[in-house]
Amino acid sequence: MKILIVNSGSSSIKFQLIDMGGEKVLASGLVERIGEEKGVVSCTLRPETGLKAKVERSEKVEDHSKGMRLVVDVLTDPASGVISGKDSIEAIGHRVVHGGEEFHSPTLITAEVLEAIENNVALAPLHNPANLDGIRVAGELFPGVKQIAVFDTAFHQTIPPKAYHYALPSELYEKEKIRRYGFHGTSHQYVAQECAKQMKRSLTELNLITVHLGNGCSMCAIERGLSVDTSLGLTPLEGLVMGTRSGDVDPALHFFLARNCGMDIKRIDDMLNKESGLKGLCGMNDMRDIHEQIAVGNKRARLALEVQTYRNRKYIGAFMAVLGRVDAIVFTAGIGENDSIVRAKSLEKMEHFGVELDSQRNDQRVREPVLLSSDSSRVQVWGIPTNEELAIARASKAVLTGEEVCP
Ligand code: AMP
Repeated sequence: MKILIVNSGSSSIKFQLIDMGGEKVLASGLVERIGEEKGVVSCTLRPETGLKAKVERSEKVEDHSKGMRLVVDVLTDPASGVISGKDSIEAIGHRVVHGGEEFHSPTLITAEVLEAIENNVALAPLHNPANLDGIRVAGELFPGVKQIAVFDTAFHQTIPPKAYHYALPSELYEKEKIRRYGFHGTSHQYVAQECAKQMKRSLTELNLITVHLGNGCSMCAIERGLSVDTSLGLTPLEGLVMGTRSGDVDPALHFFLARNCGMDIKRIDDMLNKESGLKGLCGMNDMRDIHEQIAVGNKRARLALEVQTYRNRKYIGAFMAVLGRVDAIVFTAGIGENDSIVRAKSLEKMEHFGVELDSQRNDQRVREPVLLSSDSSRVQVWGIPTNEELAIARASKAVLTGEEVCP
């Protein structure tokens, strides 16, 4: 079974074609700058074989429909493509950011499901419309092919009311559905499942803290395989310090900025989402640049590292209190997989909580699941590469075949 995975953004389409027999990636690529003068289609074909090839085309991509047609052209190119025709694609799995309270698991897309995703646009105005574009365009291009929606929020739908309610007037939840939803659910669930495999235990008997540190950052408290709390909230702005997003701030900051700094809502929104986090603190949002600058004595870069890792540690401590017993802490995503310094600083002073990082094991970039804690550590620490595309492909296959993917 070959499944096309689509992650459709406002001006881009990320895609992967996966052969589920052996879970091999046949092609992986990106259409960028949709709607601009010059679009770019880049794709790596057969990345896991000796026949690996790269394709890059630059041309105007007016809209998502043209973008998806270009994806099909690249995949079916008689000279370099990986499939003979679009009939070889048996299903399409879509990443959908916001499933609101309706969606608890991956779902076959029907007219009703499309309507429900549309109804959640107010909760994710930047993401859900772009995800819907991808679904509609794929539906036109692949008539009759089953499409599956895999929601970033779904895994967190097991969070109990005491953790998802904000202490706000209750009608805001009842009428507007204002609550904590959480995101990155596909990643948290995937690394939790991989961790259970590594520990040779059933996920249903494990308590885990999964720490996704990429450009976006979030943490999840997982009790016996179910998400019971997470750091991202109504939107992907709450919680940890991210590349350009602030994470937690005093809610009164917004009034202060409006009253004293003359900022309107759009300005505050842009500032908290695009100009804050690591970038706000030191002007750089890539952790590799931050380390380079720390090495030459840049004090702001040092502060950015300190603020991010301190916040990580504070949340790990909070989620330990939520879970009581913790079997393992899992680091994943760009920073979590690659940055041994961030991992070590995020776990400082945690020996009393039973967390002992092994400095030699930790001193590596994680390419496959690896144990990073010492043998005597009561709480194991793992580095596990995330793979959201594979998780979406597995979930899509499971929807089609009726098998269980959850713990
Ligand atoms: P992601 O969103 O998971 O793709 O992660 C992207 C982020 O990972 C980048 O913005 C960097 O901050 C970080 N990153 C990637 N490679 C490294 C590395 N080798 N060392 C430290 N951070 C890295």
